[in-house]
Amino acid sequence: MRIHHLNCGSLRPLGGRLVAGTGSPFVPARLVCHCLLIETGSGLVLVDTGLGLNEVARPQRLGRTFLMITRPALEASETAARQVVQLGYQVEDVRHIVLTHLDLDHASGLADFPHAKVHVHEQEFQAAQHPLTSQERRRYRSVQWAHSPDWVRHTTNGDDWLGFSAVRELPGLPPSILLIPLGGHTRGHVGVAVEGDDGWLLHAGDAYFAHGQIAANPTCPPFLNVFQSLMQTDKTTRLYNVQRLRELAADGKVDIFSAHDESELMSLAKA
Ligand SMILES: [Zn+2]
Repeated sequence: MRIHHLNCGSLRPLGGRLVAGTGSPFVPARLVCHCLLIETGSGLVLVDTGLGLNEVARPQRLGRTFLMITRPALEASETAARQVVQLGYQVEDVRHIVLTHLDLDHASGLADFPHAKVHVHEQEFQAAQHPLTSQERRRYRSVQWAHSPDWVRHTTNGDDWLGFSAVRELPGLPPSILLIPLGGHTRGHVGVAVEGDDGWLLHAGDAYFAHGQIAANPTCPPFLNVFQSLMQTDKTTRLYNVQRLRELAADGKVDIFSAHDESELMSLAKA
């Protein structure tokens, strides 16, 4: 299976190294929306969708707070839809979308692939359809699924994957693509594990934000620390999952990356 690492949305929050960990504090940091495009025997599979064409054309759909904090570049050429075409495919070739969660910067591109089946954890689907708190009402944008996607909702069945529970056998997808529940950031947040030619990859979504968080001596830029606390739905679960990811990273058997860390994207895209 060929796996492409795509940046489907550059974000330029102010704060420099307070956000990105390096550089001057006075220039914008560089964050990405790291998505995967996987060529499988049964069509293309997209993992997360980043920022889509609807939001590029009408940024106000993302809300003032998101625009102010993340300062997205909003380039049509960065959308998954345009990058799929750039790679020589048609958007209809994307048969399945697998989502880490339904936050607005992960689900924005859904409408660009109206024919795709959309795989999501049941708990995340419920959180987005029936938000319980003001935080949940702010983070999800129902306009992003107003086209009524062909949802495929999954519950965890407890199958083991390197010590993590896993949802295996996603209908229509090869057995080398699994959902790994990693709650805490949102109610039904998952990682997506993919076995490629070079071994296992784990897209950890927003389970952590900076690569230093899963290093042996953990570090995290201060703004990202605050941001993750503000956005979490369950602190204990979130920190527990970061610790488990740190142990998995120390094992060295899996290439782990998060959704918004630019250096992780650059090293994996190069490899
Ligand atoms: Zn995110």
